Amino acid sequence: MTKGRDMSAQASPYESDALPTETVDVVVIGGGAAGLNGALMLARSRRSVVVIDSGAPRNAPAAAMHGFIVLDGTPPTEILRRGREQVRQYGGRIIFGEVTAARAAVPSADGDLRFTVTLADGHVVTARRVLVATGLRDVLPEVPGLIEHWGHSVVHCPYCDGYEVRDAPIGILATGPASVHHALLFRQLTDDLIYFARGTDLDSGTRARFAARGIRIIETDVKEVVDDDDGTLVGVRLADGTFVGRRVLAVATRMQARTEGLDGLKLPMEDLPDGMGRRLASAMAGTTEVPGVWVAGNATDLSAQVGASAAAGALAGSHINSVLAAADTDAALAAAQPITG
Ligand SMILES: Cc1cc2nc3c(=O)[nH]c(=O)nc-3n(C[C@H](O)[C@H](O)[C@H](O)COP(=O)(O)OP(=O)(O)OC[C@H]3O[C@@H](n4cnc5c(N)ncnc54)[C@H](O)[C@@H]3O)c2cc1C
Repeated sequence: MTKGRDMSAQASPYESDALPTETVDVVVIGGGAAGLNGALMLARSRRSVVVIDSGAPRNAPAAAMHGFIVLDGTPPTEILRRGREQVRQYGGRIIFGEVTAARAAVPSADGDLRFTVTLADGHVVTARRVLVATGLRDVLPEVPGLIEHWGHSVVHCPYCDGYEVRDAPIGILATGPASVHHALLFRQLTDDLIYFARGTDLDSGTRARFAARGIRIIETDVKEVVDDDDGTLVGVRLADGTFVGRRVLAVATRMQARTEGLDGLKLPMEDLPDGMGRRLASAMAGTTEVPGVWVAGNATDLSAQVGASAAAGALAGSHINSVLAAADTDAALAAAQPITG
């Protein structure tokens, strides 16, 4: 397998639509599967919706997306291109840019909620509701040479890339308790599996279970990832100098919701057990403790794949529409009340 590609060459810049000057119904922060599917539901409900996207989806290094029926094998860039096109078909607007600040604004004259979202170039979008769909950041252990292969020979998800590396000599670089389960999932895909414990705990029961499945355990620390002259990952070097040949390394990353620019929304966060990651807290249909703000996709569900992220975005989008429908009706009723006295 070859070394990681230049990520900047992967980026998919696209033309922004005109920025709205009026207050829109919904601003969606993040235009991956979750944000675009939320926007699609809103635009099809004839809501004015603007998606702001900084163009760095989590699966950008992957050549193809797997495990989602009908779209299996499609490049992630192609899925997003089609998604943006479909949102636009119904009048949704897409802005290519980064949100650097977001906050609840002072109550509007009509008593409804208002939010302002500021882009890196200083432009401001005002909206009645916000859908946060910013995804997550994968944090890899600090092993020299590892990050260069991320998304290619260094993988995290047995359902995304596992089938493509079936039967290969795979090494699990343990990061904590989650790696034990990770190992059993990758054992389903190859008979040649080594567990690099890297100082993590392994109780006798787990050791026995690994032995029963033919998973070899190496306790000596991993010093670095080793490539051949072509930049292909060929194994790891241990702290004692021993070379261990591997074609693929699997790592349970620490998953960190992306919250850059969102501080002003004051969204509560939650830690997952065993240091697995940190997410934006949410409840039914992506509602949060902050009135008027919803969250969908990897930003709140760290284990969601593309299908689940898109579904969560669709659910949040339809819930926002129903809340707005009730607010619009309340406002119409208030306007229709006879003025007495
Ligand atoms: C290497 C790899 C391979 C994968 N392969 C698969 C696969 O085969 N199948 C599968 O189902 N899943 C796969 N996944 C998981 C998949 O990437 C996620 O499930 C999916 O991307 C989550 O969608 P999302 O919309 O929540 O977040 P993302 O797709 O990450 O989209 C979030 C968007 O928000 C933008 N953003 C973030 N902050 C801001 C901001 N402040 N202002 C503006 N925009 C912002 C980002 O630039 C990004 O475009 C893979 C993940 C990785 C790491």
